[in-house]
Amino acid sequence: MCYNKMASHITIRERKVNLMLKKLKKQLGYTKRGLTGYFQNNFSKIPNIPADLTPSVIGKSVNNKPINCYQIGDGPIKVLYTFGIHGNEIGTVKLAQHLLVWLKEQKEFLQKFKIFVIPCLNPDGFKLARKSPQYLKGGNLGRFNAHNVDLNRNFLTPSFQKKSVWSFGKNFSESSEVYCGEFGNSEPETKAFTDFIEKEKIKILFMFHNAGREVMSNKNELSKKLVNSYCEKTGFKYVSEENWVILKQTGTAKEWCDLHEIAYVEVEGSTRWGSDRKKQKNAIQATLDLVAGGGIEPPTSGL
Ligand SMILES: [Zn+2]
Repeated sequence: MCYNKMASHITIRERKVNLMLKKLKKQLGYTKRGLTGYFQNNFSKIPNIPADLTPSVIGKSVNNKPINCYQIGDGPIKVLYTFGIHGNEIGTVKLAQHLLVWLKEQKEFLQKFKIFVIPCLNPDGFKLARKSPQYLKGGNLGRFNAHNVDLNRNFLTPSFQKKSVWSFGKNFSESSEVYCGEFGNSEPETKAFTDFIEKEKIKILFMFHNAGREVMSNKNELSKKLVNSYCEKTGFKYVSEENWVILKQTGTAKEWCDLHEIAYVEVEGSTRWGSDRKKQKNAIQATLDLVAGGGIEPPTSGL
């Protein structure tokens, strides 16, 4: 009895110590990432979007901010790159600026492609995240839109729910409940986005997040090939369909793309506040090569 009491006492103490160590490790991780982020936000140079590129406004955010879309090239294959659906993922918006500058120089590509770039789908969240980057708390403020909706849970799909789960952290070990809107496509940002894809009949979509260092495909065969190539170039992990299902995400862009037969590539970059361009530029180029002439037939419908 006495021995048992002592054993359980030690176990409780050990558990407390382990919990404390875990918390400390997490905070150290946040601090390291936050300090890097501070330098990335204040000292690294991000190119301006070329002045001769004029965006079209595909819609407005809850707070009436324009959602801009740039078009480069006038070839037959349409590809859409979208950034900043979660406004706190600031690095993705920086990557968009690099991408626009880089794409403009790719004369050869631009004969084959009509490329659309939406640098920031959630401008209200982005503005909040820029104002309060929360360097030492993981930088999550600004993820949602101004209705507090997680836009990547707001798509009109069979699995849509008003409340859903957001898994994060190492191996998605932590989770939190998120609000997904009153109904699928309720948010002006999601509606503008899906209306634009349907109007342009886009069949290849790249969606950029951070900072999980992962790439995910949907059920589409082309998307799986593109994700393989993206993982090869970046060293990011391939999250399979089976593993994605475990996350219990609802109303996502991925599911919406499956319904609309769109090749979907979801990139989780490696840094919250940095552009990640050194890792991702080659992957973007490789995937465009693959679609253009690497033995993969571009989709014939909707071009
Ligand atoms: Zn995200």
